[in-house]
Order: sequence, then structure tokens, then C-alpha cells
Amino acid sequence: MNKPNPTTVTPATNFIRNIVEADLAAGKYAQRRWAGQPGLAAAHAQAPLDPAKIRTRFPPEPNGYLHFGHAKSICLNFGLAQQFGGRCHLRFDDTNPEKEDQEYVDSIIEAVRWLGFDWQDEQENNLYYASDYFAWMLTCAEYLIQTGHAYVDSQSAEDMRRTRGTLTEPGQDSPYRNRSVAENLDLFRRMQAGEFPDGAHVLRAKIDMASPNINLRDPAIYRIRHVAHHNTGDRYCVYPMYTFAHPIEDALENITHSICTLEFEDQRPFYDWLLERLAEGGLLQRPLPQQYEFSRLNLSYVVLSKRKLIQLVEERHVSGWDDPRMPTLVGARRRGYTPEGFKLLMERIGVSKAESLIDYSLLEDCMRETMNELDERRIAVLDPVKLIITNYPEGQSELCQAPNHPLKPELGKRDIPFGRELWIEREDFMEVPSKGYNRLFPGNMARLKYGYVVKCTGCEKDDAGRVTAVLCEYLPDTKSGTPGADRVKVKGNLHWVSVAHAYPAEVRLYDRLFKVAAPGAGERDFLADLNPDSCRRITAQLEPALRQALPEQRFQFERHGYFVADRVDSRPGAPVFNRSVTLKDSWGKNA
Ligand code: ATP
Ligand code: MG
Repeated sequence: MNKPNPTTVTPATNFIRNIVEADLAAGKYAQRRWAGQPGLAAAHAQAPLDPAKIRTRFPPEPNGYLHFGHAKSICLNFGLAQQFGGRCHLRFDDTNPEKEDQEYVDSIIEAVRWLGFDWQDEQENNLYYASDYFAWMLTCAEYLIQTGHAYVDSQSAEDMRRTRGTLTEPGQDSPYRNRSVAENLDLFRRMQAGEFPDGAHVLRAKIDMASPNINLRDPAIYRIRHVAHHNTGDRYCVYPMYTFAHPIEDALENITHSICTLEFEDQRPFYDWLLERLAEGGLLQRPLPQQYEFSRLNLSYVVLSKRKLIQLVEERHVSGWDDPRMPTLVGARRRGYTPEGFKLLMERIGVSKAESLIDYSLLEDCMRETMNELDERRIAVLDPVKLIITNYPEGQSELCQAPNHPLKPELGKRDIPFGRELWIEREDFMEVPSKGYNRLFPGNMARLKYGYVVKCTGCEKDDAGRVTAVLCEYLPDTKSGTPGADRVKVKGNLHWVSVAHAYPAEVRLYDRLFKVAAPGAGERDFLADLNPDSCRRITAQLEPALRQALPEQRFQFERHGYFVADRVDSRPGAPVFNRSVTLKDSWGKNA
């Protein structure tokens, strides 16, 4: 029966791991100092050598729930730090005052912890908020102004867009590009003091309006926004642009390897330009962080775009962010997916710059493999019909023993009650058997797993011809585990639950949320691809021990798959179960 799935792991390549190894071998970051907290070069310079061999970071914007794609970034960044004696920071990139929310901060913290990673140890607590760096960012901006590397532009947003040029044409210099340092500084200070309305001016880096890379055509670095920020309140009315803030955040935190997805590749020249300017001014410590880009995780049968996920929740196509069908980490957790399964998946798909679509079944395989290893076995009858053992005394019952895990005898055995009336799967009986069918049909014998061999004698039906009970006789000297029990050879091996002892429970059979591999491909609305059968609720008959299942406890229901006690809807003594994933091999092959 449940043999472990073959673990054919081809060690996937991870080019960033190779870079880190080479950097460590070359001692590239060995001389960095670390003040114990983020800071400008002067603060770090006084401090001892950085005890962390490398520093990485996971920098979510707290404007949504984390999804499976984020798990790739988390596993990569925290994984590298673990592997190489480094540290990984959890940094909330909360420099945009409009979109952030504490609800998201809390859920992100919980999700990263759930995946099994930590930013805190005895020495350090590397949980940071980019908005705590606003004062340093202003210092950096003013330094750029003072050295002629930034200017205040007073063109309208539309004029700026118009004069930016295109991929083939250079941009044009702004008429404000040659303002004096004094005028720029004065204007920028007045911007900070709140003298101007939103959009009246922006601060721009002064680089090259003719650069072939549009990102180097004097990118905006500060804008006026008269809005309160969740962390800094009304203290600021100018806010840094992401492309300016992010490199500085990395440098302040002593990040060595700043890992991001491919769409930031074109931003790297600005990243390097900015940090180089600030390091030559003595504001930032060298060696500077270096940005590396990898291709994001794309998965079939799901959508990972924040916009689409929000739409699914807001239009109530799912019950919430933590709906077990959602590709969010809160959804995965409720579905019963394992952190180990995510780590296995990320290890298997590797890290590269090649765009690829990962098949959802690969994720399911990884979940199954980890669950097969971790989860105890239990018995559940999902589509019950009664089996009556006519030669077993009425009112009598006895105990059978079932191993908790076939691969781990150390997990012991448990008792399951047996009696005259049992629940079996409706499909385990056929009045007229099809070819090769070897479960119950009149005249045939099969084993009740962990119990006795029975011989089917017939069935009872209602007026509509539907089977209401299957009838059989048991062979008293065939009880599993007793001497000579396997004297009678049978092919079918059925699971069952005693009617008198069963726990009837709600079980949700989840399937993929979308019925096609690429939801919304072409011009189609992705909602048109929703799978109408992605959740089926049934009442199943479970072995009595499952009454005591605690929220989030997972089991393999033999022959069916892996199930978890729902962490939201379960009540003490009355858990409801979610199907996490089916068994790989359809049980029909084994029966
Ligand atoms: P947006 O920026 O549109 O709000 P986002 O998905 O980029 O959405 P962030 O909070 O900025 O959200 O992401 C945090 C980190 O997760 C980033 O470093 C980002 O590159 C990474 N990330 C996001 N989506 C994926 C993905 N599909 N695969 C791998 N990494 C991802
Ligand atoms: Mg982003």
C-alpha cells in the first residue's frame, strides 16, 4: 500500500547560490561592519565586523496577503541566509502612504513564521519598516541636490511624460534642469514644509535624458503627497519613490545580496548609480549591496496577481483570503498544505532567469510527499453504505488494531471498534461485478482491512432499486494479526467504520479553483474559467478517534488522500475536515 513516492530529485540549479559561494570564497563582504541595526556609514564604521556572512531580505509591501509566488522569494532569501551563516531581514516596504494596512503586516508576519523562518535570534531582531528610514532618505536626497545630482522639476506630470522620450527617441531636458543648488535646496525644503500642493514639484535625479535606459532619464525620486502615513502620521508630506527608497533601504541594512524578480532588471543601473553616489559621499558603507534578478514563480491553474486575488475575494467567488482554494499562504495553511512541501517545491524548481510555468501537479506532488512522511493514517468512509454481517452477534463489538503510520512503526497502533454493522464505500459493492472487479459482489470474498475476511451474500434495496445495505458473513478465524489469518487469500481489501461508533462529520472535497491551466488566457475573463466544482461538501463517516482531531491536525484518510481539520470551522470534539490533496495513485489500482 502507501509506499513513499519515489523521490527523484534532480538537484535544481540555483545561480544565486553559486554567486554567494563565490563571493564568500573571495571574502567580498568580510570587512563590513554592523552597528547592530540599520544606519548610515558613520554608524556602522564605529561598530565591530558584521557577524552575518551575508545579509538578504524579504521586502513585502504590506498591501495584500502573501501568495505562493512570495513563498519562492521567502524560501530563497531565508534559505540562503540559513545555508551560508547569514541573516535574512523581514522588511516591510511601507514607503507608499496610501495602500498599507496593519491587517496585512500581521498576516505577513504569520505567514513567514508558518513557513518556518525567523528574522530573530538571540543576537538580532531583523524586523524592519522602511518608513523608519524616511529621515535618512531625506539626508540622501539633500546630498544629491548639494552635489548637483538632483533637481526640483516643476513641469506638470504630463509634460514630464511627454519629454521622457521613447525606446527609440531620447528624452528632452526639463527647463528646470539647470536650477542652482541653492534654489533646488530651497524648493525641496519648502516641499517638505508643506508649502506646495500635490504634484506641484518633484525631485528628480540628474543623470541623462538621452540614456538608452529610460529608467536613467532623470527618474523622479521624491513626490509631494499630503496624506497621513500609518507609521509616521503627518510628519511628512513628501514621500520617496520606490526605486529611490529600495536601494537605500538595502544599504542601510547592510544587505549583501538584494534579490528580486526580473522586472527590476532595468532598474539595476539606477540602483547602482544611486548607491555609488551616496557611497562616494560617505553616506553609505562599502561594499554596496548588489541586486540580482530571478524569474518569478508562475503556476498553472491559479492566478497570482494581487489585483485578481482581490477581485476573487471582493466579489465573493471564494469565502475570503484564507479560502482553502486560494493560492495565498493563509489559504494553503487552511487547506492543509505543508511548509515542508513549499520548501521541497522551491528546491525542486530551482532559481534561474528563464521564464517558466510550473505545473500545479508538481506542487501537489511535493505536498503529498511531505504528507506521506508526516501524517498519521486514519479511516474515513466518504460515500457510505451499510454492510451487515449477518453471522456476527447483535450488540457485540470488539477492537481491531491499525498502525498509525506504515512507514513509522514507532508511532504505534490504535484501536478501532468493529461490530455487526459497518459503513463501507458504496463503490466497494457491485451487484453485478464488472470485469476484474474484486471487491464485494454476491459470492465473492474480500478482507475488511485490520479485521476479518467476509463473504458477500447479497444486498437490500429500496423501491427505486438503490442499494441500502450490503449483506455478508464473516470468517471468524481470519482476524488480521491472529495466527493463520491470511489462510484465506482474497484480492479486495476494504476500509470500514463501525456504524455504532462512527463520527459523522462534514468533509469538504476541494479541487482546483480554475478548470483550465491558464485562467483568463487570451481575451477571456479569468472568472469565466472558475471551476464550478472546486468545493463539494459531504457528510462522511469517520473512525471515532477523529472526533478528537485538533484544528490543523492532518491525516491521511486511507485510500482517499490527505485531510486537515479546518482551523476556522472546527469545534472542540467536532472537527470538520478539508481535503488537502488526493492520493497520487487512485486506490482502484490497489483494491
Ligand atoms: P505588487 O508590487 O504588485 O504589489 P508583489 O507581488 O511584487 O506585488 P511585493 O510585496 O512587492 O508584492 O513582493 C515582495 C517580494 O516578493 C518581492 O521581492 C517580489 O519580487 C517577490 N515576489 C512577488 N511575486 C513573486 C513571484 N510570483 N515569484 C517570486 N517572487 C515573487
Ligand atoms: Mg512589488
